[in-house]
Amino acid sequence: ETQLRYLVSVGPLQVKLEEYPKNRELHATGKTWKFASKWYDEYPYLEYSVKRDSAFCFTCRLFPDGPGSEKHTDAWVSNGVANWNKMKSQGIKKKGKLEQHFSSASHKSSADRYLNFKNKKLHVDLMLDSNRMKEDQEQEMILQLNKQVIATLLDSARYLARQGLAFRRNPECEGNFVQLVYLQRRNNQVFNDWFLKMKLEKYQV
Ligand SMILES: [Zn+2]
Repeated sequence: ETQLRYLVSVGPLQVKLEEYPKNRELHATGKTWKFASKWYDEYPYLEYSVKRDSAFCFTCRLFPDGPGSEKHTDAWVSNGVANWNKMKSQGIKKKGKLEQHFSSASHKSSADRYLNFKNKKLHVDLMLDSNRMKEDQEQEMILQLNKQVIATLLDSARYLARQGLAFRRNPECEGNFVQLVYLQRRNNQVFNDWFLKMKLEKYQV
């Protein structure tokens, strides 16, 4: 699964060479004797292996098994196609090997499996991203709220200090600080919400 993910993210191996190796036998007969990179434009899942001088199909190689794949040929999956003649056409009435493969039912089913896999992965990635963003936003909001609350409490403490008032006169009655906090709660919605929430949290397990 991890390897498949990696291969899907890399995409088809479309090696482009200045000159592809010549097939001497075909060259002698005057037929198409080498791979052509322009075929990639028409068939986006077409691949070329330098090591084996052969063509493969990306989606059939990665997703060979599944409904509709019963008739697949190993040529495009594991053996590779290296007979470069008749790739584009095989006479007027018969499709070339490329067209034959890429329009076949077994190829279409592998392409479907590939697209499903890719979309599923994309969906999971997007979900992770949006969850992360939501968490970040929530944390940022809590941070901003805490900043405001601290600023309000500090303001109250500074006010008392500046006016030379004691925080609390005696243990029996509510002191200046508590009175001031009440006043701030009346004027500051954010601070009041925070205060009520803190009060409730005391009773929560
Ligand atoms: Zn295919």
